[in-house]
Amino acid sequence: MTAALEIRNLHASVEGNPILKGVDLTIRQGDIHALMGPNGSGKSTLAYTLMGHPAYEVTEGEIVFDGIDLLGLEADERSRLGMFLAFQYPVAIPGVTLANCLRHAVNARRKAQAPDDRGMPIPEFRRMLKEKMDFLQMNHDFAGRYLNEGFSGGEKKRAEILQMAALEPRIAVLDETDSGLDIDALRIVAEGVNKLAGPDLGVLVITHYQRILNYIKPSHVHIMLAGQIVESGGPELALHLEEQGYDWLRERENGVPVG
Ligand code: ADP
Ligand code: MG
Repeated sequence: MTAALEIRNLHASVEGNPILKGVDLTIRQGDIHALMGPNGSGKSTLAYTLMGHPAYEVTEGEIVFDGIDLLGLEADERSRLGMFLAFQYPVAIPGVTLANCLRHAVNARRKAQAPDDRGMPIPEFRRMLKEKMDFLQMNHDFAGRYLNEGFSGGEKKRAEILQMAALEPRIAVLDETDSGLDIDALRIVAEGVNKLAGPDLGVLVITHYQRILNYIKPSHVHIMLAGQIVESGGPELALHLEEQGYDWLRERENGVPVG
């Protein structure tokens, strides 16, 4: 049976400031959703809230995944259930390679699922990682890079996609946090998502970038404005945004007739 992430009437505050004001969104395994919206509309806040970041306080509403209430669960417990949030990768530690970090993440997941697990044997891990990198057409040298040695924006995205491939989540949330208009980073994410997409993976791609349809084919597109999803539709909605920008929505919000 396919699982769904169900967000219902979600309200969340940061440092006492209400940011999310009633978000409703359901993401099923097999779906690709794009969440778009102008800067400051609350997209990243939604991603952090889904992750369970302690600074983001849910004041109302529900987040349910596969029938399980996520609100009482820590980030790692959410991950264990098969939720992947792109910026959860371990903090850079001097002298630690991306491969080591990935192995740590994979083993933490295994141990969470089976407390007696001793970790994936290294040869098996290496084989798995090589397969994933081949599939994603990544250079094997990449996994040997030290995480703290200044990854570019695009390399950070590549590392995220590889982590996603290694962890095989059921629902992945990918936030284009600091890459606002960086087409390369978006392209890397989109190509990775396109490759990893399938009936077992549901994706929420969060982006400010309106030309996302050049790279990715979401089944659903949503527009967030001032902490709410104000419009949902199919890929045509992103096309409309590309032509019209966000102003028509703002005008509508302000009661100004559109057209
Ligand atoms: P987006 O990702 O759509 O650009 P954000 O979720 O980052 O939007 O921000 C939404 C609003 O929440 C903004 O007004 C921002 O200033 C505020 N905000 C986000 N994070 C914090 C924080 N840690 N502390 C205070 N305000 C925040
Ligand atoms: Mg953001």
